[in-house]
Amino acid sequence: MEELDTTPVQIKLSDLIEMIEDEKISRRLAYIYNQIPKTNCGPCVKCCFVGAQVYPIEFLNIYAHLVKMPELTRTRLAKKLIEYEMLHLTTLDYSCAFLENDACILEDQKPIACRLFGFYAESEYKKMAETSRQQNQRLAMHFARNSRILLPEKVMTHDIEFCAPTTDKKGNPIFISAQERERLFQQIYSLAELVVPDEWLEPDHERFSYQFALEFMTAEEIEKAQTKIIKEFQAKQKSPTLEKLMAEYGVHI
Ligand code: SF4
Repeated sequence: MEELDTTPVQIKLSDLIEMIEDEKISRRLAYIYNQIPKTNCGPCVKCCFVGAQVYPIEFLNIYAHLVKMPELTRTRLAKKLIEYEMLHLTTLDYSCAFLENDACILEDQKPIACRLFGFYAESEYKKMAETSRQQNQRLAMHFARNSRILLPEKVMTHDIEFCAPTTDKKGNPIFISAQERERLFQQIYSLAELVVPDEWLEPDHERFSYQFALEFMTAEEIEKAQTKIIKEFQAKQKSPTLEKLMAEYGVHI
């Protein structure tokens, strides 16, 4: 009897993109996004200091949008994403790769995490900032112990300034509660479950740049490369390893 081949089938990104195009995911995501009021924050973009956080289905939706862009733009963005992912822990010089000329180039594909900024109560925002600082502290300890790298305190303790809540036409602040946010996240997650393979669903929320790097490196390879790049950068303010990585994968999108 012929033995069954149990090797897991690696689903290619291009196949997933085709699936999300077929399932009109972009339109379905827009329906969820449109439940969030538009912000009236103007051209501030302080919240874009941190790289875009995305759900897996949002990663695919954005990626499907990026692959339609002109080649030069795709190459520029791929390089910016790699640079951000490798160096964002050691310098405050980088912003989200999708921020160009003080504007987000994603528009309709902008992920939900970015859309919700400006709808938090200040007390809630402070708690989130504290959680993020604690995570950074653990990360700094991890790098110090395992790689003898000291991540700069000013980067590890950097907070995005609290953004005054968006207001309605009468000037009253609009808050989106934790419960409401959870309802929206659940809608996105349920949509993802329709088309995204299980191995893609965890972790559910990730930096776009990290998810992008996972397309051509394993998690271990990313950490190894990042460690080497940070050491080079901290010593000489430049990194030959990063340049090599960008030359090799900066044409990837
Ligand atoms: S995706 Fe757009 S809105 Fe979100 S952080 Fe990046 S530039 Fe800012």
